[in-house]
Amino acid sequence: FAADYYHHPIGAVINHALPPALRAGRAPPATHETAWRLTALGSEEARRPSARRGARQTAVLKNLAEARLLGSRELAARGVAPAYLKRLATRGWIEPCELPTAAAAPPERRAPTLTLTADQAAALQAIEAEAQGFAAFLLHGITGSGKTEIFLRLIATVLDRDRQTLLLVPEIGLTPQLVGRLRERFGDALVVLHSALTQRERLAAWRKAQTGEAMLVVGTRSAVFAPLPRAGLVIVDEEHDASYKQQEGFRYSARDLAVARARGLGVRVVLASATPSLESLHNAASGRYKLLRLPRRIGAAGPPAFRVIDLKKHATRQGLSTPLLASIDAHLGRGNQVILFLNRRGFAPALFCPQCLTAEECDRCDARLTVHARTGTLLCHHCGRERPLRWACERCGTERIGVGAGTERVTDVLRSLYPDRQIARLDRDVVSRRGALDAVLEDVARGATQILVGTQMLTKGHDFPRVTLVGVLNADQGLFGTDFRSNERLAQTIVQVAGRAGRRDQPGEVVIQTSFPEHPLLQSLLDADYTAFAALALEERRHASWPPFSHLAVWRAEAPARARVFEFLTKLREHAAHHADAVQILGPAPAPLERSRGRYRAQLLFQSRARNALQTHIAATLAAVRGWREARRVRWSIDIDPVEI
Ligand code: ADP
Ligand code: ZN
Repeated sequence: FAADYYHHPIGAVINHALPPALRAGRAPPATHETAWRLTALGSEEARRPSARRGARQTAVLKNLAEARLLGSRELAARGVAPAYLKRLATRGWIEPCELPTAAAAPPERRAPTLTLTADQAAALQAIEAEAQGFAAFLLHGITGSGKTEIFLRLIATVLDRDRQTLLLVPEIGLTPQLVGRLRERFGDALVVLHSALTQRERLAAWRKAQTGEAMLVVGTRSAVFAPLPRAGLVIVDEEHDASYKQQEGFRYSARDLAVARARGLGVRVVLASATPSLESLHNAASGRYKLLRLPRRIGAAGPPAFRVIDLKKHATRQGLSTPLLASIDAHLGRGNQVILFLNRRGFAPALFCPQCLTAEECDRCDARLTVHARTGTLLCHHCGRERPLRWACERCGTERIGVGAGTERVTDVLRSLYPDRQIARLDRDVVSRRGALDAVLEDVARGATQILVGTQMLTKGHDFPRVTLVGVLNADQGLFGTDFRSNERLAQTIVQVAGRAGRRDQPGEVVIQTSFPEHPLLQSLLDADYTAFAALALEERRHASWPPFSHLAVWRAEAPARARVFEFLTKLREHAAHHADAVQILGPAPAPLERSRGRYRAQLLFQSRARNALQTHIAATLAAVRGWREARRVRWSIDIDPVEI
């Protein structure tokens, strides 16, 4: 299904679905005992009169005919040596196989002590009511509403029926708390599958899923392909997360495949999020998914209070406005913690020469280089190319300036303003050091860190009890994006990061800095909530015929020579347009970042109201393209249901 749907070679898909060690031909760990069973010939022989055989042979055949299959240890106990078994095997009477493990003994589960809230109980009951066959649910629960607790209960009942659960999460490293809670409840029945494991560990975990020894398989994107011989339930946590879509090679959506897989297995699938994707909300509205809502937080904490600060009216100091600083003082003064979100790592996003009036650019990409002061480098965030940082301009020698602020710079300012506080940073630069991620999260969790500055990583399901203030330093980066999904992403980011504030008894406050306080997107978030925003955004999508009201595919091409790219895509467009009644073709247009890693990139957009029409069209076009000379001069790819265009 995945190969057809994403128009990707089936061999490559299968390859992707297997653990790397298995692809390399390595044998899976021999955790299992060999067993023996009768072959067809052996069964026939066992039914024949015993006269022509020795008594020993007859006994073994009879034993196997009765037991269907016996482990080599059991056979040894009955006095049958391995050598003897081999001899019977060469006669073609018996064959070795693997002794299936008895279902792993259910771990000693700690009995749940919490009493479910009425909302939780209703959601759980609705899911339990459909325990037979395929059914899809969208669990829309605000942050801290008790979604995870529902997962735990569901997994437990599935386990009681001796069935496996597959739980997909966006990133394992960022959710140690979730894995901790699962381990505490389910112990050894749990295996974790993700790319940071060694090849050996990954193969071992995969095998446990395959033998059914692992009753709970938790993993990231590619775990959607884990073998599940006794599947009972599939859960996709944070279903809106863009990391479920693989962005290169085999461009699949693990969320969408999870639904397809659950349908194939005939089991339930639960998609959960505090900020569901517009696609999933639309599927719920049209009745394909059952919508379950948890609109309230657990405990005393109500929803956080939102406040917008107009950057046109308030001066900022490296991205921090005076009212925000006043709020930080107040919350720290009450002994609480503060989280500041800025989607920009490094010290400054540009290195500017006031004399030449130019900013340093990457020579391979259409992008400015980011100043990374800690490592003393200039870094291209697109291709990763690094250069030593020199403040003096290479042309005129003038001292250059870092324009704008990234997480490094904000951290520096805060350290000078709050010398007595512990301030930490969380972004990809920090976590590239081994163990750093866990250390940062732990310090925040136990209250040692008072201010945490970070990027998108902050938005993932952390549960820090003493965080009461969340500041969004610059909402404008997302307000005017070129992608039709920019608004949705920004709303999700704001709501998710806001969800870190006031998760216990103390009320939370969320401060958003923007130069466009009147923007309707921000207003809809402030006035009501994500549901109101989503309704508005879906209406816009309907008018503009964007997904989920149409289906998209992007045909991308890139090459060192720009002309080759357009030559290919223009030919493709002409060819495709001939037989495209139900499909609209837009482009070719340069990619948002046209030159990257020294290659020019452009794309054709295919759009249709009918998914089948689009799929048929792509398949037909693909068949023609494979023979073209122009196609061999570029690198091309097809992206079905792209998350970025
Ligand atoms: P979510 O996954 O929606 O963010 P969680 O399931 O993590 O929410 O719940 C948030 C917090 O509330 C957790 O610390 C959890 O242990 C606690 N909690 C969940 N359900 C209940 C309940 N019914 N009674 C008391 N505490 C609960
Ligand atoms: Zn670059």
